[in-house]
Amino acid sequence: MSKIILTGDRPTGKLHVGHYVGSLKRRVELQNSGDYEKIFIMIADAQALTDNSDHPEKVRNNIMEVALDYLACGLDPEKSNLLIQSQVPELTELTFYYMNLVTVSRLQRNPTVKSEIQMRNFEASIPVGFFTYPISQAADITAFKATTVPVGEDQLPMLEQTKEIVRKFNAVYGDTLVEPDILLPDNKACLRLPGTDGKAKMSKSLGNCIYLSEEPEEIKKKVMSMFTDPDHIKITDSGKLEGNTVFTYLDAFSTKEHFEAFLPEYSCLGELKEHYTRGGLGDVKVKKFLNNVIQSELEPIRNRRCEYQKNISYVYEVLRKGTEKAREVAACTLADVKKSMKINYFDTNEWLEEQINKYHS
Ligand code: ATP
Ligand code: MG
Repeated sequence: MSKIILTGDRPTGKLHVGHYVGSLKRRVELQNSGDYEKIFIMIADAQALTDNSDHPEKVRNNIMEVALDYLACGLDPEKSNLLIQSQVPELTELTFYYMNLVTVSRLQRNPTVKSEIQMRNFEASIPVGFFTYPISQAADITAFKATTVPVGEDQLPMLEQTKEIVRKFNAVYGDTLVEPDILLPDNKACLRLPGTDGKAKMSKSLGNCIYLSEEPEEIKKKVMSMFTDPDHIKITDSGKLEGNTVFTYLDAFSTKEHFEAFLPEYSCLGELKEHYTRGGLGDVKVKKFLNNVIQSELEPIRNRRCEYQKNISYVYEVLRKGTEKAREVAACTLADVKKSMKINYFDTNEWLEEQINKYHS
């Protein structure tokens, strides 16, 4: 079976380094591996509207920001099909049919939705659209017959939900949909990168991000004020690694080459950690190293973004063409779905003949 990727991001802000290590970097590697027949990268504006219904301009403006971040990171429109979700109405139609296969209590059990409801203070009044977005996500994934979904750990419950919908659909209506697999980052620190404030997840909605397009001075300021071990007061004190965001970031970003370039007195992260836990290594030195690491990762991305910013019409065309192509694929799947559900009354003569036989025999 051919391997197909579907993944994406909500246009609720510029993309940040959590997106980068959690999903974006991997997408570019997968794209360049040549192992995938088709790759669809979706800007999920319809999903973003489920909790931003009163900020449509925010969603509208961030579509271009996300597209620029994609191209800056190395997504190549020749190899990866970029699309805007709302402009593929087939996805909405699929969502509507899948809704019949999911119960309210099943949605209520979704841990990611639960924590997102809490984060947005939606407890008293959850928009129905937001509550059902895991179903819409199942439509996105299955519309492109995706086999592989490279995302961060917070998406695990969404993939579980999608698999259940696929199994249920295929059992009730016959084999039609493809069951996708999640592809999580190999590096544990990248599964869910914490925010610069030490909170469990870097997230646009929490304002604790280092953005991919961030200016060098701003990056430095954020890194230098990051959360470490509160009990590590004097340099001679032994430091804790657990819950120490600076070290989590080093786990996520640093390589041997970074040590050679910026901190040659240590050969690897293991050695630096060992010194920190033993005592005698100050936070400032570690943060300065992390700053160098992040700066060197983000500089080429920021420069490429500046180039694409000069040619917005090109980015527009990439999105327009990509969306058009995606629509063709989604329309085929929707036709398959409607055929399996026997709601394709006008596609063939079958239904007409059934009715004629019923009334004329
Ligand atoms: P929002 O706050 O609007 O939900 P977000 O920052 O959570 O935004 P999404 O667009 O929801 O970003 O997520 C896009 C992709 O990035 C998903 O695959 C998600 O798993 C991944 N991702 C988001 N935040 C992180 C993070 N902190 N660490 C690892 N992966 C992440
Ligand atoms: Mg999110």
